[in-house]
Amino acid sequence: MCFNRQIPVLIDHLNQQLLERTAKGLQRQRRTAMTACTPRQQVNGGPHAVGAQPRNLLGFCSNDYLGLANHPALIEAIAEGARLYGAGSGASHLVSGHSQAHDALENLLAEWMSPAIPQARALIFSTGYMANLALLTALGDAQATIFSDKLNHASLIDGAMLAKAQVQRYPHGDLAALERQLQACSTPLRLIVTDTVFSMDGDRADLPALLALAERYDAWLILDDAHGFGVLGPQGQGSLAHAELCSERFILMGTLGKAAGIAGAFVAAHPVIIDWLMQTARSAVFTTAAPPAIAHALLTSLHLIASEEGARRRAVLQEHIGLLRSGLHTLIDQHPDLGWRLGASDTPIQALIIGDNAQSLALSNALDAQGLWIPAIRPPTVPVGTSRLRITLSAAHTADDIRHLLAALHGIARDPT
Ligand SMILES: *Cc1c(COP(=O)(O)O)cnc(C)c1O
Repeated sequence: MCFNRQIPVLIDHLNQQLLERTAKGLQRQRRTAMTACTPRQQVNGGPHAVGAQPRNLLGFCSNDYLGLANHPALIEAIAEGARLYGAGSGASHLVSGHSQAHDALENLLAEWMSPAIPQARALIFSTGYMANLALLTALGDAQATIFSDKLNHASLIDGAMLAKAQVQRYPHGDLAALERQLQACSTPLRLIVTDTVFSMDGDRADLPALLALAERYDAWLILDDAHGFGVLGPQGQGSLAHAELCSERFILMGTLGKAAGIAGAFVAAHPVIIDWLMQTARSAVFTTAAPPAIAHALLTSLHLIASEEGARRRAVLQEHIGLLRSGLHTLIDQHPDLGWRLGASDTPIQALIIGDNAQSLALSNALDAQGLWIPAIRPPTVPVGTSRLRITLSAAHTADDIRHLLAALHGIARDPT
């Protein structure tokens, strides 16, 4: 009986908090894409929705950096994978869900990572979020200290919270502060954890300096290459290939739903670490294996990434980054009064930092009115006072798409009503 009385109490409590979020300009809305993930999509919902009529929007918000999410070869590979292996895996990897497609994908990823991580083996996960929980909880035991960059992805923060290890956060990119923490550390195991490319700013971690610290203080280096894999490195092998580094200390997590265009993630590391994760990491053990068709299609995706076509797509992406950045610099120089600034980034993630939540949202809405889809990213995803437009570029964009966005931003900056 008394449970019935709790229902209105909880609902009132949650409603109150939702209203507070709305008042702070923090409410979020989903839109519904009616078509495939490409820069031009038909979308339902949003601030300028007209009834249930889908609108054509030009988007700068996906992480499909190479434009593979709608690639005909991948669509065909998923269909082929389903014909070969069926729709679902039926069980976790350790029970009966591990198929030869999963196995082949792990072997190929291990081969890709072995120049950077001697003897590397790889273990696949359904999502990057789960891979990061696995890594930090399985390695971060009571003997360990986790050293974590303050701007690390939420999945690393959550993994660190779930781990039994002590956790020290260091200011973003402040390796002097990290070194002081390492010096003062007395636990036998030390895990330095960082995004390689930071997801909301697009800046890159200083991997050579981090490796030098890891060597000096006998620490492991856990790297989240969600935004580097496929994009950086001569064949798209990611941040370690880009930095031309090699060490047994690297434990690399890469995701397969961004540049690789499908879904999933992997960890590559020393074979004993991989075995330990496979045996003990709860988000690997207690979950159904992703459909083998996904793994089968990812094999095609990796071949594409490493191919001439992949190289061409990366070259197009680099041109787009240059075009957008020079246009945004001009815009900011012409309107210093607006207080906008551009984050330092040479990756497809470009942050136009506005500061105020409501102003960021207003700018995003004004762009939406012109058919441009660029989300305003607000706290808690980014620090308070740094609300922004997070513009992401894809090889599937055209140079005209980028000029179109720049023209719209110039128009709004001239007449910000
Ligand atoms: C997207 C992302 C993840 C999570 O990967 P999913 O496969 O989407 O769960 C982890 N880390 C970073 C830095 C990311 O950007």
